[in-house]
Amino acid sequence: MDRYSRQIAFFGKSSQVKLANSCVAIVGLGALGSVAAELLARAGIGKLLLIDADFIELNNLQRQALYDEKDIGELKTKALKKHLSRINSRVDIDIKNIALSKQNITTLTKADLILDCTDNIETRKVINAFCLKSKKPWIFASAVRDEGYVHAFMPRKPCFLCLFPKANFDESCCSSGVLNTLTHSIAAMQANECIKILLGQKPNKNLLHLNMSLPSLTEIKIKNKACSHKV
Ligand SMILES: [Zn+2]
Repeated sequence: MDRYSRQIAFFGKSSQVKLANSCVAIVGLGALGSVAAELLARAGIGKLLLIDADFIELNNLQRQALYDEKDIGELKTKALKKHLSRINSRVDIDIKNIALSKQNITTLTKADLILDCTDNIETRKVINAFCLKSKKPWIFASAVRDEGYVHAFMPRKPCFLCLFPKANFDESCCSSGVLNTLTHSIAAMQANECIKILLGQKPNKNLLHLNMSLPSLTEIKIKNKACSHKV
């Protein structure tokens, strides 16, 4: 427990045990997923399920934590597991080299909570549908240019389609760029909401918006209406 002494001093030993008994799935191991995975592994989450089908490229190294030049050409799942295991060998890490879809979504069944670290609207809709049905919490995050958003979608609360009925998210990091200071901050906020939920605390009920240039962190109010989306 010495490894976790600084956070046990903050939230107590029983909370540390809760984290050790938790399983978190991280969908997408890019700028958000690699940072969130590192924070959660260091924090002592018992099981991590890492999902991505991509290989590491040179342009990833500007923002995607833990990967280095020797990892270029390697699967992100494999490289991230290697680095995380060196940081915390006690974490049980399972990897899936897949692009998440309706066909393979049951991969998420064993997770207590899912982190959306994709930049893909279709994957988010698939995660949303799965979580509505299985009543699991999931945490949405997006980051483009110097602005990002985080929100924890909880069972029996407004879902992703309630919040973004006409979601298109035209901008992408590929075309518009993104600051590494933003992606690290957004991933840290996402991991923070994740840890709160695992410890039985309430996540922020609003949509968090971070602007790195101003800088400002604001809450965009979400109406607490009943979700009518079919499961
Ligand atoms: Zn809904």
